[in-house]
Amino acid sequence: MLAIESLTTRYGSIAALRSASLRVGAGEVVGVIGPNGAGKTTLLNSVAGLLNPAAGRVLLDGGDVTGAPPDRMLRAGVALVPEHRRLFADLTVRENLLVAGITATARQRAERLEEMAELFPVLGDRRETPAGYLSGGEAQQLAIARALMSAPRILLMDEPSLGLAPALVDLVFDLIGRLAAAGHTLLVVEQNAHRMLAACDRAYIMRSGEIATEGTGRELLERSDLFDTYLGPAE
Ligand code: ATP
Repeated sequence: MLAIESLTTRYGSIAALRSASLRVGAGEVVGVIGPNGAGKTTLLNSVAGLLNPAAGRVLLDGGDVTGAPPDRMLRAGVALVPEHRRLFADLTVRENLLVAGITATARQRAERLEEMAELFPVLGDRRETPAGYLSGGEAQQLAIARALMSAPRILLMDEPSLGLAPALVDLVFDLIGRLAAAGHTLLVVEQNAHRMLAACDRAYIMRSGEIATEGTGRELLERSDLFDTYLGPAE
C-alpha cells in the first residue's frame, strides 16, 4: 500500500533522513524504532506531507504522492497521529473529532463519533470536556481517535506511548492490537522497542537518518546484538 523509496529529507544543510526505503502492505502493522534523533519523526512527517523530501519517492498504491501537502495526503487516506498530539486545547473532545472529520459527510461524521465513543469509552464520557483538561492518556486516545475520524487507509503514529504511565502504555499497545485485529494498516514510530517489536508484523530500525536493518518483529526481538548496538540494553 505504502512504499517509500530512497527518501532524503533535509533541515537546511542537514540530511535528517538519508535514502530511506520501506514498505507497508495492506493490513500490516509496521514499526519504526531507533534512538533519539534517528530521523523517525522526520520519516513520518515526510510521508504525511508536513515536510518536503529533497529526493526519493513516496508511493501510495503505486501512485507518486511525494511532496503532496497534508490535506491531500489525508484525502488520499494517510492520517498522522503527531508526536505531542497537537490537539485544540480550547475545543471539546467532540469538537476536536468533528474538525478532524472534515473530509466526511455530516452523516459519516455522526457515525464515526459513535464508533470512537465505542472504541474509546473515556472519550464518550468526556465528550463535552475541553481537550486541554484531559489527562495524558485521554489526550493520546483523542489524538488517535481524531486521526481515525477520516477513516484512513493507513494510520501513521508518532511515539504514541511517549510520556505515558506504564498502565497507559499498556492501553496504547492494547489499542494497537485491537486496530490491527480490525484490519487497520499502521506505521508506528516508537522508542519503546521491545513493546513495538512484540506488537508489529515487521519493523525497521533507524540510526543516524538511515534504515539500519529490518525484519519481522519476532526476528528482531531475538537479535540481542541489535539491542546492544542501537536500542539500549535488552529487558
Ligand atoms: P526523537 O525520538 O528524539 O523525536 P527522531 O528519531 O524522531 O527522534 P527526528 O526528530 O526525526 O528524530 O530528528 C532527526 C534529526 O534531525 C535530529 O538530529 C534532529 O536534531 C534534527 N532535526 C529535527 N527537527 C529539526 C528541525 N526542525 N531543524 C533542524 N534539525 C532538526
